[in-house]
Amino acid sequence: MTERSANGQNAHGQNAHGRVGTHPGDTGHFGAFGGSFIPETLSAALDELRACYESLEGDEEFWCELDDLLANFVGRPTPLYRAIGLERSWGAGVGSPKIYLKREDLAHTGAHKINNSLGQALLAARKLGKKRIIAETGAGQHGVATATACALLGLDCVVYMGLEDTHRQALNVFRMRLLGAEVVAVDSGSKTLKDAINEAMRDWVTNVDDTHYILGSVLGPHPFPKLVRDFQSVIGREARAAILEREGRLPTHLVACVGGGSNSIGLFHPFVQDEGVAMIGVEAGGEGIASGRHAARFAEDRVGVLHGTRTYVLEDEHGQIRETHSVSAGLDYPAVGPEHAMLHDMGRVEYHSATDAEALEAFQECSRLTGIIPALETAHALAEAKKLAACAHSDDLIIVNLSGRGDKDVQSVSRILGEAP
Ligand SMILES: *Cc1c(COP(=O)(O)O)cnc(C)c1O
Repeated sequence: MTERSANGQNAHGQNAHGRVGTHPGDTGHFGAFGGSFIPETLSAALDELRACYESLEGDEEFWCELDDLLANFVGRPTPLYRAIGLERSWGAGVGSPKIYLKREDLAHTGAHKINNSLGQALLAARKLGKKRIIAETGAGQHGVATATACALLGLDCVVYMGLEDTHRQALNVFRMRLLGAEVVAVDSGSKTLKDAINEAMRDWVTNVDDTHYILGSVLGPHPFPKLVRDFQSVIGREARAAILEREGRLPTHLVACVGGGSNSIGLFHPFVQDEGVAMIGVEAGGEGIASGRHAARFAEDRVGVLHGTRTYVLEDEHGQIRETHSVSAGLDYPAVGPEHAMLHDMGRVEYHSATDAEALEAFQECSRLTGIIPALETAHALAEAKKLAACAHSDDLIIVNLSGRGDKDVQSVSRILGEAP
């Protein structure tokens, strides 16, 4: 795991500076996964983006400006909060482990997504020289984060969103419009995230000269999975520094939910070389794996290509991408980031799932026991932390990535719990 290549990078693409995990000639493969399966018309844009990304290494001016915005616009570093309330209730009394929450919910716009949107928007404005941004969004979180970054930097912004999702998330559509973005409702296929990505890619092919596509997770063709990971790794770098300062040692466990996989890889990446740190990614178990209605890609053993990358996917017996299901829109996607696929096959990260019911329970318990209403996505990670705490040792030190706040979910949860006004 510490094998070094000629250019001084290790197998995980970390180098001395630790901000840019790619190098010239990198084809974006993670073992047997990743790569770039794209139409010919996009290859010039991806080559340009890859060259630009590589040039960021050692670009002091770019990182200084980004760090300044992360501090003063986003509010970083986000706190690392020790959740005594969860320890008391979820731990086994005297033998209770410590549980820390990395508070990405306190980042501007309420989740980790702004780390990536802002990084890529700055890249477009300062390095690619592109004034028009497009993005896809499911529940609207990535759309809102991207519209925010574009408003800040004076960029035009078009967000593609499935028609079905624009109805379910009407408030986020209004938010994006307030921020100056144009929201395009996609009326094809299942009218959800998958179709929004197809439409965004179609736009990019046509307008590639003046347009950058800000992909929202560690998905898609090279260099997106690495680029997004590098912008999200600020989470893990901060968590590492904070826990060393507070506890004088590394955590024993990291826990994060996995949709496309960006908040989890952001937390995990700076710890991958630390063999004593166990990592658990939590997928959406929906109505249970046996029901077939879930979004747990690692629960089934199928590898395929979706949206330009080779990875674990959910598909039917004919190889068609399947409908997924989760109570949380942000985890409801049929593929997972290719780096996760590699970490899974290496056995470096364990992937578990939490059902809708378990997530709803953790959502309510976290609210009541800590005073923090988590996002439903995050509640999946908390459900896993609860299971872990029940059988942990007293010297265990668990960090859970609190990927986002739950304000966006209170209405749907109230409906599910039958307490809607
Ligand atoms: C979008 C989202 C997720 C899932 O996306 P990842 O790329 O897997 O991080 C998780 N939590 C929150 C709060 C989100 O908004």
